[in-house]
Amino acid sequence: MSKVILAKDFMSSPVTTVNISASLIDIVKVMSARKISCLLVLKNGLPVGMITERDIVTFLASHLPKPTDHTTAKELMTSPLITINENDSLFAATVLCRSQKVRHVPILENNGTLAGIITYSDLVEANHLQLERQAALFGKKNGSNIMELNEHLIELTLTDPLMEIGNRRSMEMDLQQTQQLSKRYKRPFSLIIIDIDFFKLFNDHYGHYAGDECLKHFAYVLKQCIRDVDRLYRYGGEEILVLLPETTPDNAIILARRIISSIYEDYYEHIKSSFEFLTASAGVSGYDASKDAVLPSPGELIIQADNAMYEAKRQGRNCARLYEGGETQATL
Ligand code: GH3
Ligand code: MG
Ligand code: MG
Repeated sequence: MSKVILAKDFMSSPVTTVNISASLIDIVKVMSARKISCLLVLKNGLPVGMITERDIVTFLASHLPKPTDHTTAKELMTSPLITINENDSLFAATVLCRSQKVRHVPILENNGTLAGIITYSDLVEANHLQLERQAALFGKKNGSNIMELNEHLIELTLTDPLMEIGNRRSMEMDLQQTQQLSKRYKRPFSLIIIDIDFFKLFNDHYGHYAGDECLKHFAYVLKQCIRDVDRLYRYGGEEILVLLPETTPDNAIILARRIISSIYEDYYEHIKSSFEFLTASAGVSGYDASKDAVLPSPGELIIQADNAMYEAKRQGRNCARLYEGGETQATL
């Protein structure tokens, strides 16, 4: 087994921190004096938020022409804080940066105290180093395009080349991270599993190449339906999983219905289907902190969404179903 590369091996430490009651003026002075683009906010010695240059610009823009003198770190910081643990891998940090669209990830020790911070540039450099080591090992070191190769390699390890969305491996990591964030901050999230109907018949009739083109188109339609913060992953052959942070299952089922309608209304020919056009079936599961007593594990959530999806198949396909504790509810 190859050794897991830890994110903390590439982190910067110590990290500049301020107390939650620090004033805007002190914060700007510290950032300017130390030439840093972000700092961490501590409350009782533990990290609770982060302030980046962007947070300050956004704050000032909305308080022009005159920001108040009483502004403190508490009002400026982005929270909840997205962090990783000191034992997490470089791969986990890479998935987190990409899925959450953050450029700085604090690393915490097991007791919750701050160990350091890893930035997106650290990640690129870390992956670059790995690639250089490999290139040296194979005697093909070519410094000029190694950065380009590195970006490409990150892309390959995280995405599905046919659908151009996340692959199964990054899906599992993202789902685990999203579930942990939800557990810590009691935030809702949902998933939708969408499976093409009668896709075997499509392949048998139109051929495998046309099948591949159809899968690309399927992913393209889904990309048009979701928000910037939502994530698409290829879950199986002709199945896509949509991960929706900050979305309750009741809202996710509305989106799932809209996706199912969008696929049908695209009128992509499938003459072997009883609908004559390409259709899909969807299952939804998730966690709503205001309703659900128990937060399911990532594996349980997938089984629930899968069960709801199979219920949609049983109910005639081209529809979406919501998993609701043991039973799946008819919604379309
Ligand atoms: P259902 O409506 O119940 O979902 O039926 P189905 O025919 O869609 O489901 P089934 O699981 O029987 O068949 C899925 C098919 O998807 C079979 C497999 O050959 C095809 N498939 C999986 N991955 C790919 C791929 O990458 N390219 C192509 N062209 N076909 C694929
Ligand atoms: Mg399938
Ligand atoms: Mg299918």
